[in-house]
Amino acid sequence: MYNRADYISDFDWEAFQKFSKDLETPNIVVNLHQVKHNYIKLKDSFPYAQIYYAVKANPGEKIVKMLAELGSNFDIASRYELDEVLSLGVSPDRLSYGNTIKKAADIAYFYEKGVRMFATDSKEDLKNIAEFAPKSRIYVRMLIESTSTADWPLSRKFGCHPDMAYDLIVQARDMGLTPYGVSFHVGSQQRDIGIWNDAIAKSLYLFSSLEEEEGIRLSMINMGGGFPAHYISPANELETYASEITRYLREDFGEDMPQIILEPGRSLVGDCGILTSEVVLISRKNNTALQRWVYVDAGKFNGLVETMGESIKYPVISSKDAPDAKEGEVILAGPTCDSADIMYEDFKYRLPVNLKAGDKLYWLSTGAYTSTYASVAFNGFPPIKTYYME
Ligand SMILES: *Cc1c(COP(=O)(O)O)cnc(C)c1O
Repeated sequence: MYNRADYISDFDWEAFQKFSKDLETPNIVVNLHQVKHNYIKLKDSFPYAQIYYAVKANPGEKIVKMLAELGSNFDIASRYELDEVLSLGVSPDRLSYGNTIKKAADIAYFYEKGVRMFATDSKEDLKNIAEFAPKSRIYVRMLIESTSTADWPLSRKFGCHPDMAYDLIVQARDMGLTPYGVSFHVGSQQRDIGIWNDAIAKSLYLFSSLEEEEGIRLSMINMGGGFPAHYISPANELETYASEITRYLREDFGEDMPQIILEPGRSLVGDCGILTSEVVLISRKNNTALQRWVYVDAGKFNGLVETMGESIKYPVISSKDAPDAKEGEVILAGPTCDSADIMYEDFKYRLPVNLKAGDKLYWLSTGAYTSTYASVAFNGFPPIKTYYME
């Protein structure tokens, strides 16, 4: 149904086929060259920004190591991510503790390891930071409403109203911390670039009011992630995001541009992965049903979590695809004994009518939020394995 060439070049596809042909399914293959390409492209599109890779998108050691060599910094959300990144030789001054939900003991752990930059969005958390990470740099995360235009929203749970952000920054100073800046995340796979305009305007409001009323000069805006990977629902190209967002920044801050941090996850690694699954069974629910149920060996619990609510629609192609193949509608489901383990039912994928058990389905653009976004062994199925093309 989907034209492979819209998502991956013939060259990369052939290299992938060669690399993956004998691997047991299900598996994910990540193309490291492409990650590097995406990193350089992002750097070139936002030459003034510092990049903090959001490790949770794909914490593969080879990815983290390569990005570290390319000069990336890292957004870390747990002590386990911290241990991994430090063990790869990244120094703690290149790390930011971006999770606003953390234990006091975690803050102490990060501080002890040398991390000095912390995000917050609540008074309780700020108090803990002041106590266990004294004098550290603080940035406050603002809440951005973006539910309808981001395919995977990150609002509600994180951030606070700008008025509260104002209070937290004043309190941070009063507690002996270093007020450093503000942050926001407009929602992952954010397809409305205009959302950045609102968020940057809110940042400007905080910068100016804090300086005028409190004499606090903030120096940094952390603009989070939200940049797109290529899925079925179309999004603008990265260049368009960059030129629009840069324009918003110039309009609001003029020559007095603050330091800008970006925390890309999806846009760096999403397009670089292909998840291969094998068809386990194809059935119909009654003798005249038009739709086939296609069950594969990967599902919601091993790699395809972001199909929840059919939010992310991956391009899916099959080993039986051919220009003249006759196709029919299918419901795509995973292998476990849980009826939540259905990937796509409302949105109708079409696959060749001669598809059989043992054939393969290739889920393109599955490099982000797949490899570790999984259960450990639900129904005994092991976590999905990732391989790297170097
Ligand atoms: C998940 C996350 C990101 C990455 O977002 P993408 O949309 O995947 O680029 C960045 N910053 C924070 C704080 C996050 O939680």
